[in-house]
Amino acid sequence: MTDYSKYIWHNSEIIPWENAKVHVMSHVIHYGSGVFEGIKCYKTDKGPQIFRLEDHVDRLFKSAESYKMNVPVSKQSIIDGCLEIVRANNLTECYIRPIVFYGYDTLGVNPKDCPINVSIAAFFWGAYLGEDGVLNGVNVTVSPYQKFSSKAMPATAKASGQYMNSLLSVTDAKARGYDEALLLNVEGNVSEGSGQNIFYIKDGVVHTNSEKSSILLGITRESIIEICNDLDIQIEIHSFTLEDLLCADEVFFTGTASEVTPVISIEDNIISGGKPGELTLKLRSYYMDIVEGRNDKYNKWLSPIISDSVIENS
Ligand code: PMP
Repeated sequence: MTDYSKYIWHNSEIIPWENAKVHVMSHVIHYGSGVFEGIKCYKTDKGPQIFRLEDHVDRLFKSAESYKMNVPVSKQSIIDGCLEIVRANNLTECYIRPIVFYGYDTLGVNPKDCPINVSIAAFFWGAYLGEDGVLNGVNVTVSPYQKFSSKAMPATAKASGQYMNSLLSVTDAKARGYDEALLLNVEGNVSEGSGQNIFYIKDGVVHTNSEKSSILLGITRESIIEICNDLDIQIEIHSFTLEDLLCADEVFFTGTASEVTPVISIEDNIISGGKPGELTLKLRSYYMDIVEGRNDKYNKWLSPIISDSVIENS
C-alpha cells in the first residue's frame, strides 16, 4: 500500500491526505484523462533535495499540451507546490506525484467544461524494482503487448490512460515470474520497459533509442546521456532490435523510481554473466552521487527543501 503522508497539495491548498478525494463520476476515472509526473526527493548533506524538479514540471506541461489541457496554475506554482508539500509532510526523502486531471462535469468523452484539477502528493516509496533488483539486477521478459504507436497516442506524454498499456505488460510479466516487461514497438524494434527506458552497452559504447521508438523521453535517460558525454563515454542514439540487446555486453533500465537498474536476463538469455556489468555500475554510482548531492558540478539539478524555520528566520 502507498505510504500515508499527512498532507496533499490540492488546487493550491494544503489539505489532509484523507480529504483528497474525487467524485466517481469524474472524467479522469472513466477515461484516464490526466497527465502526471514522478519526481524524487533525496536525502543529502544539505537536507532533502528534489532532482530535476523544473525539468519534470516542464514535461508535465508538455504532456498537458499534447492533450490540449490548460493547466490552471503556473509552472512556478507547481514547482513551489512540490517544495511545499515535501516540507509540510516533513519528509527527508520521498517520491512526488503531481497530477493534472479532468474532474466532474460531463461524462461525454469530450471533456468540454470538466474542471481541471491539480494535486501533488509526496510520500515515501522504496526501490521500485526492489532493493535486490536495483543492486543485483532484474530478469525481464518480452511483453506480448506492443507499445502503442505515437500515431495512436503521444508516447512522449506521461498520461494516465496510456499506462493501461504498461499495466497489461507488467502484470503479465509478474504473472510469469519476471521482474519487468520489455515492450517492442509496432515496427518490432525495442521501445522501453513498462516504466523505464532501456540502454545497452557493446564494446564500451552506450546505446539507447529516441522518441522515434515510441518512448517516454525519460529525465533519467537524458541525465545518463549527459553523464556519458561528461565522462567521455561514447553514446549512440538510434533504434535497435531485441537481437541487439541479446548480443549486448550489458543492459540497464533507467527511470526516476528505478534509477539505474541492471538487466541480467531477457527471456531467459543471460546478460553480462547474470550480474550487473562494470560500466553499468560505474554509471549508476555516478548517477547516485549526483542525486544524493555528492557531485557539486550537478548541483544545478537539485532543488533544496528549505525548512520552515529557515523561511521564518529569513
Ligand atoms: N518510460 C515510461 C513508460 C515511464 O513510465 C518512465 C517513468 N516515468 C520512464 C520511461 C522513465 O522516465 P523518467 O526517467 O523521467 O522517470
